[in-house]
Amino acid sequence: MNQREVNEFFEDLAAQFVILDEKQQRRFTKSVDNIRLEVLDVLETYADENSVIPASRRAQVLRAFDTIEQQLYATMSVVLQAILVETATWTIEKVNKYLARNMDAEAQADLVQAVVKNVVSRREPADELQLSDRLYRLSGDLTDDFRKTVRLSISRKQTINKTGREIKAAVDSREWHYKQLSGSESPVTYRKAIGEIAKKSEQVKAVRLHAGVKRSRICLGLSKENRHGLGAGVFLPEKDDDIYSPHPKCTSFLTYELTNEEGDL
Ligand SMILES: [Zn+2]
Repeated sequence: MNQREVNEFFEDLAAQFVILDEKQQRRFTKSVDNIRLEVLDVLETYADENSVIPASRRAQVLRAFDTIEQQLYATMSVVLQAILVETATWTIEKVNKYLARNMDAEAQADLVQAVVKNVVSRREPADELQLSDRLYRLSGDLTDDFRKTVRLSISRKQTINKTGREIKAAVDSREWHYKQLSGSESPVTYRKAIGEIAKKSEQVKAVRLHAGVKRSRICLGLSKENRHGLGAGVFLPEKDDDIYSPHPKCTSFLTYELTNEEGDL
């Protein structure tokens, strides 16, 4: 196992991860869409025999959206947490196997937890927000859309079928936001897991950042930066926390720099 083979392994792993990440984004979007069905239930509950929600029930129906908002937050939170656990586990298992490292189940579970905790609790430098803040904001924004739609539909005396279609349009119009949440946090988890194994492995001297397919300015800059005099794009996983989350929806990936380039792993 030489440096070239290690590079190829990580390039291939990064390509496999893109597929996992896309699947996860679809799963996350689906979980939000499931809450839409709860909204339709609420509309049915308060509609009269003409499938219209009477103005006299306006306050009641709007109050029901407080519960919807909590459900939305709880669902997104649980599903995203499961996605991050899946990513950390997937990455740790594949990298350990490649390096022929033995890690017992308990040690692996601890490492998965540590990686996910680190990702969930970090604050993005750009806006100082944590993941839970983003989830609160998104569930609040979406529920506000629902309330607005329903308020207007009551004033117009429109049927709940029509309102249901407008609710769907509101959910669909924010799809980009759900995809961005999952599609930013999961890759951070992927890179962080690679960094954590690097820290524990004597065969690994450092990690190298490669700009992703999007070739964003920030990642191109990092891939050329020689921060420690070890070469362009070479970073120390124990010191350089910024390489795990250079910017939202980052597609950069990491490879390992071997301690002894000539020797076998
Ligand atoms: Zn990037």
